[in-house]
Amino acid sequence: MHICFATSEAVPYAKTGGLADVCGVLPREIARAGHTVSLVMPAYRSVAHRGQSIESTPIEFEVPVGSKSVKAEVLLGQLPESEVSVYFIRQDDYFDRDGIYGEGGADYEDNCERFVFFSRAVLKLIEQVPLDVDLLHTHDWTTGLIPAYLKIEGDSERLARIATLMTVHNLAYQGTFWHWDMLLTGIDWKYFNWQQMEFHGDLNLLKTGLVFADAINTVSPRYAEEIQSPPLGCGLETVLRARRSVLSGIINGVDYRTWDPAEDRYLVRPYGVDNYREGKAECKRALQRELGLKPDPDRPLIGFVGRLAGQKGLELAVPVMQAWAEREDVQWAILGTGEKRLEKQLRDLATENPGRIGVVIDFSEPLAHRIEAGSDLFLMPSEYEPCGLNQLYSLKYGTLPVVHETGGLADTVTGANEETLASGSATGFSFQSYTQAALAQTLEVALSLYRDHPELWQQMVTVAMQQDWSWQQSAARYLALYRQTIARHQATVLTT
Ligand code: ADP
Repeated sequence: MHICFATSEAVPYAKTGGLADVCGVLPREIARAGHTVSLVMPAYRSVAHRGQSIESTPIEFEVPVGSKSVKAEVLLGQLPESEVSVYFIRQDDYFDRDGIYGEGGADYEDNCERFVFFSRAVLKLIEQVPLDVDLLHTHDWTTGLIPAYLKIEGDSERLARIATLMTVHNLAYQGTFWHWDMLLTGIDWKYFNWQQMEFHGDLNLLKTGLVFADAINTVSPRYAEEIQSPPLGCGLETVLRARRSVLSGIINGVDYRTWDPAEDRYLVRPYGVDNYREGKAECKRALQRELGLKPDPDRPLIGFVGRLAGQKGLELAVPVMQAWAEREDVQWAILGTGEKRLEKQLRDLATENPGRIGVVIDFSEPLAHRIEAGSDLFLMPSEYEPCGLNQLYSLKYGTLPVVHETGGLADTVTGANEETLASGSATGFSFQSYTQAALAQTLEVALSLYRDHPELWQQMVTVAMQQDWSWQQSAARYLALYRQTIARHQATVLTT
């Protein structure tokens, strides 16, 4: 197969979130499985500063954007450690800026125009190079127009054969713009209706992709279910329900080259499943020292790393920490940046409870690794979570995750109960109702297991560390989905 990724982010070139990790790693795994893979993304300013070799090419073409014709140049690179060709669409007026989607907390005002241009340029590129693409893998709202252009205007033999898969990384970001931006797309107004491109009077690019793509997936099976109803459907639940026969979920993989406690260069003592007790004990001691916590090997230490945002469940966690602030039988290690109100609440907690609560307001990859290794429990009570990575790292590091049963958290953590403990499948602790009481109760269960049943605790840690959430597993599922989607597309092309 020839799979082409169209994306607004990919590591190592440009990143604001998990989308960039998926688009930086999955193409490499697909190529390793013996397929031809290319990737197309905008040539942002950041792209030139990532230490990768990027060359200019003679390829250039004009792209219609509304009533204008805008020139696109093409640069070429290669995804590190792979055979994947990366085509960068260069148009400095749109992409030679400090940010990717905006600056200083505000989106760029011409975002619709920028991604109309990019979406059309992807298809022009395929014709110009030319590339024999079987499936175009599009991601989130920024590439939502591509499936529509292919269905509405993709008449050439080269374009007509292309199947499309739309991956939703977070349904909350939809790319909605005022209705007059329909003119920028060049698509006939007849498509501006509630069943296709319109959403409450606005143009909605994510919805457009969901309607026109041959298949849709999200980054976990549970999230694929949840978004078919309110509130997680974010208004698009009806569209998603109508397309449920082609909607599925595939968990993102972990890059174990970076996240393996046995090879982790940030740890005082790397460890594996066979020597985790000594390894974790030393890492815990070092973490307690680093965060000014009272040195005590037996006191359970609860870690948290992540964006300090409502989505991440801090509305539940901070009140529990406040209520438990006086408790001597538990310690906290918190790392994150985000909403100023949450940053202040956490800082205050640390100041008022030295030795018991350690808080670092920063983005620190090394400390994130050390919290994963040195903690006993990892807190991830997210209100919703399309996939989530930290709980997967925690499993590998033998740090039992405490999670709200939602999205990827529900799909990857087996909560402890009588049955799962007896069968030896438990890997963490989970709660269903999104309330402070449910979180507090679940933490109490975890703490009592830690204190009173060390043999069960050890069993859970061992099972957790042996889980395999690698990219190879996810890539195999994507390959099956690509095959199925291409076959379905070919069947519809033949019958029309
Ligand atoms: P999301 O993509 O919603 O932010 P994920 O759990 O999928 O949540 O991924 C977040 C990633 O960002 C993880 O790799 C996590 O370790 C990292 N991260 C988030 N905040 C910080 C921070 N303050 N310091 C270091 N790493 C962080």
